[in-house]
Amino acid sequence: MTNRDYRREEFFRSEWFGGKEVLIGLAEGAIPNGARVVKVNSKPDDAHQDGALGTVVGALGPANEEVKAQLRGWGFPPIEWIYWVRWDDLPEIPVAISDHRIKRHREIFFEGACPFLTCLEQGAHSHPICPDCGAVKYGNPFFCPTCRKHLEKELLNDPGYRG
Ligand SMILES: [Zn+2]
Ligand SMILES: [Zn+2]
Repeated sequence: MTNRDYRREEFFRSEWFGGKEVLIGLAEGAIPNGARVVKVNSKPDDAHQDGALGTVVGALGPANEEVKAQLRGWGFPPIEWIYWVRWDDLPEIPVAISDHRIKRHREIFFEGACPFLTCLEQGAHSHPICPDCGAVKYGNPFFCPTCRKHLEKELLNDPGYRG
């Protein structure tokens, strides 16, 4: 006795989180499962804003031309993949998100003293790399809107800053 939908099982695996079933895409996307990602292109009321970090755990796609044309017709961007992401601040439940709202997150690691003059760290640590322009520590605020957004957020969060 089962209600299983075997057609669906070609595309999704089913996982249960606190009594709630979540269907997670089975594909390996352009961003592979396990890759770290950063949120971009957030809307003001999104639960996760630009800069939030997470890990890809599944994907659905790539979308064919028919799907992309339909999305364009509805006013959506023509996405290629839907990803499921476990956000660092909400790791319990993977959340589905379209590909234009995440980018691969890269970091640079240092074993010891930091080569950046503004960083006084002496031990092993890392700095993020801007997903749009490649600047370490989002250090390109004059030319890159993503770096600029990141800097504005840091200034807002810094209690010592008197803007
Ligand atoms: Zn450093
Ligand atoms: Zn940048």
